[in-house]
Amino acid sequence: MKHTTPVVYLLHFTSPLGNPDNPRGQAMHYVGQSTALAARLEAHRLGHGAAIMAACARKGISWICVRTWNDGTSERAIKALHNAPRLCPVCNGQITIETRRPGRRPMTQRPVQFYR
Ligand SMILES: [Zn+2]
Repeated sequence: MKHTTPVVYLLHFTSPLGNPDNPRGQAMHYVGQSTALAARLEAHRLGHGAAIMAACARKGISWICVRTWNDGTSERAIKALHNAPRLCPVCNGQITIETRRPGRRPMTQRPVQFYR
């Protein structure tokens, strides 16, 4: 019996991931959900938890957790929109991933990336 509301998260890839199973397109996003987000992101970074994230790890594609929903929105609902670029604050221009603070490594070089 779970008492924790899962967090749904959106990952934005810093370069497109070609998907051999889907010649129509290249993936730029992944939507998932977890009750332990930081651990889940670390697992993705190591290539565990989802085939698409394993492919990112193999190809050295970095990614950023750009958005989370913890209001009970379901992963299924987000995926059903089929519109990750519009939901993504990088793709819709709300934030730029080049933004960095002095003395901090660029977002793409940090092991697990959050925007807060
Ligand atoms: Zn995006």
